[in-house]
Amino acid sequence: ATMPPLLSAIANAGRHGVLVKSAVVMERLGEVDAVALDKTGTLTEGTPRLTDVVPLPGSGLSERELLTLAAAAEHPSEHPLARAVLDAARTRGLTVPTAHDFASAPGVGVSAEVGGRTVAVGAPVRLLGEPAYGPAGLEAPRGAGRDACAQDTAGAVAPAPGRSPAAPALAPAADRAAAVVTRLEAGGRTAVVVRVDGVPAGVLGVADRVRADAVATVAALTALTGTRPVLLTGDNPRAAARLAGEVGIRDVRAGLLPEDKVAAVRERQDAGHRLLVVGDGVNDAPALAAAHTGVAMGRAGSDLALETADAVIVRDELAAVPAVVALSRRARRLVA
Ligand code: ADP
Ligand code: MG
Repeated sequence: ATMPPLLSAIANAGRHGVLVKSAVVMERLGEVDAVALDKTGTLTEGTPRLTDVVPLPGSGLSERELLTLAAAAEHPSEHPLARAVLDAARTRGLTVPTAHDFASAPGVGVSAEVGGRTVAVGAPVRLLGEPAYGPAGLEAPRGAGRDACAQDTAGAVAPAPGRSPAAPALAPAADRAAAVVTRLEAGGRTAVVVRVDGVPAGVLGVADRVRADAVATVAALTALTGTRPVLLTGDNPRAAARLAGEVGIRDVRAGLLPEDKVAAVRERQDAGHRLLVVGDGVNDAPALAAAHTGVAMGRAGSDLALETADAVIVRDELAAVPAVVALSRRARRLVA
């Protein structure tokens, strides 16, 4: 018997290195008319390297001590930033102590107990109190985590406690950390803040490479859908804008928590679009679920993203995304 067009399209997608989970998904891929792409691990290779280790003067920590604490806290995390920190610690021959009470909040960072100290590593805008860095209004009372998608947030990776007179040590440290963050981000790095016992102790800088096929993929998706893809990222606006310019994206939403990505997806779909979302992280899973069709990058993708997505790019090529959309459209024409 000849195979029905959608089934042979699935087999074809497999040859392109894409696992399409059902015939329904194979059909829906051809319906999309707009695309949203994640940054880290999707438009970038997702294997960032540590470029800067900057202990703050008041922290009393050396570069090696700062990196050791951060690596211990990041050890259980599967985030690409965590791997960059651990690789750097390993390369420098550091002994990474075991951490306890690990907690992570997607799009925010991690925290753990390391040798009796509470170490948090994560996004500057979340870990530094305003007005030292970032927009006002992020502060929430400890324990009142504002993101429903986070596994923890409450307490462990709580927002900076702000500048009450009760926390005199934080303000100057936060100001110094913010200055380092600004310098690193201006250089196109992603900066993460390390807090020890609630006080900013240092900043780490990380750099990632744009995928070789990112420019061609953005162009192909623009041609296929008639609209430019939008970038949805948890990373900082400076790094996001820089990458967007490199790959030909104009619409950039940065500093997003997982639920903010969902809101951005819903906004587009409420405007009548059928949105294809491409992502790789735990932080992308809710957006992948909310999308008309969700596609996950498989190689470095988190288990949750792979399970949630409708299709998985098994071979690590972003260009497979427009390829399967085109395959679906061809199959649909044969069915009709
Ligand atoms: P993207 O949307 O670009 O894939 P994420 O939402 O995964 O980015 O992460 C957004 C930001 O949250 C990161 O740039 C970083 O500041 C912070 N972050 C998330 N996870 C971690 C982690 N394990 N360690 C340090 N920082 C983290
Ligand atoms: Mg990502």
